[in-house]
Amino acid sequence: MNKSKKVVKKWGQNYFSKNKSDPIFGKLTGHVQKLRLCRMCPWMHPPVVSGGPVVSKVLLVGQAPGDKEPKLGRPFAWTAGKTLFRWFDQAAGMSEEEFRASIYMAAVCRCFPGKNPAGGDRVPSPEEVLNCSVWLKREMDILKPELIIPVGKLAIAQFLPLQKLDSMIGRNYKKIVAGHHFDVIPLPHPSGASPWHRKEPGKSLLKKALRLIIKHPAFNFKNKGVGHGF
Ligand code: SF4
Repeated sequence: MNKSKKVVKKWGQNYFSKNKSDPIFGKLTGHVQKLRLCRMCPWMHPPVVSGGPVVSKVLLVGQAPGDKEPKLGRPFAWTAGKTLFRWFDQAAGMSEEEFRASIYMAAVCRCFPGKNPAGGDRVPSPEEVLNCSVWLKREMDILKPELIIPVGKLAIAQFLPLQKLDSMIGRNYKKIVAGHHFDVIPLPHPSGASPWHRKEPGKSLLKKALRLIIKHPAFNFKNKGVGHGF
């Protein structure tokens, strides 16, 4: 049995379809092909970073790739990703491979914005966020996610009025958009730039948010709620 089939068996039929006759997989594959060709934003640095057509009821929305992700060809491929996947490993015993194979990984912007001369990566402009929202909207139309996990303030702000992380992390928000019901459970950004998730109350609120995610019916992981870290 190859690796991808093992993942299918472990995660169940709601997750990870590569069946070409599955209409959702077909639509999503076409979508990802078009997304990878997008050059709508002149100040962005191609190539587009995509995690590929993973059919899932869980949508993770990051902010924008860094400079390593375009070379490595997948989202959260560097230090912030290591932290993010460690959180899920500790909370649910879920490996990076299982995460990537079972959760659709989107972002507010799919291209590296470039460096900010003052340090760090450039924050995408409102126009770039608006341009890229077309892709996110299409993904929501195709997948009809039951759980959305926005990671970091820029991503959270696409779904919820932004407040301090202390009052937003560790909560499940019920949303309805165009008649579609879904839950939003935000996470802080795992980058080393912010210490919020490494000290209280961030540490406890992060654990609470991860517990909400892994117990969510759409998450459907075999070990949910019994992670060795929480
Ligand atoms: S950031 Fe989004 S909209 Fe802009 S070029 Fe990249 S994929 Fe296209």
